[in-house]
Amino acid sequence: MGDSAVKELEDRIKKDGRVLGKDVLKVDSFLNHQVDPMLMQSMGKEFYEHFKDQGINKILTVESSGIAPAVMTGLSFGVPVVFARKHKSVTLNDDLYTSEVYSYTKKTSNHISVSKKYLSSDDKVLIIDDFLANGQAVNGLNTIIDAAGADLAGIGIVIEKSFQKGRQLIDKAGIPIYSLARIKAFDNGQVVFEDENE
Ligand code: 5GP
Repeated sequence: MGDSAVKELEDRIKKDGRVLGKDVLKVDSFLNHQVDPMLMQSMGKEFYEHFKDQGINKILTVESSGIAPAVMTGLSFGVPVVFARKHKSVTLNDDLYTSEVYSYTKKTSNHISVSKKYLSSDDKVLIIDDFLANGQAVNGLNTIIDAAGADLAGIGIVIEKSFQKGRQLIDKAGIPIYSLARIKAFDNGQVVFEDENE
């Protein structure tokens, strides 16, 4: 049933994704620059089907590439979507929850922040992000959820690169995670998914 969103996404990655170097996938034509709203909507529905019984009342992501799938997920749940903002540095501010995130693709550190107005101990949160690589972004968001006293219900990822560290860290922490496309390897510039035969 829900498998169609996964299939649609995997087909799209095969058709339009480009492998850069040994471990970066470029998907600018439907996710990271131009956005395909129909695909985002199917994915949002799929995340909803997976997490709908968890009492989730807020979606949390980080700007900018997480926003499109997060908003469509929020639409399916009928709940607000908060995106953490990125800054080069932060001046201490009592109104913000902050944490530091090292960006794997950009090789730089960013601070991310969320206003205390938009996250609290009343919230049961679903994190949505575009990619899972080493788990730094998810970890930073989790730090913010902890600081707010909110509950993390789970993590929804559009594209997981299972050969990097993030997945293992999340499994070890016992956090429920659902990744739509799980990439096992890049083989000579070709994407190999966990659920396909080589
Ligand atoms: P992590 O924090 O898990 O190491 O990396 C996640 C973040 O890095 C994502 O939010 C995404 O912006 C970026 N990222 C990591 N790997 C890739 C990749 O292969 N392609 C693209 N386009 N972004 C990536």
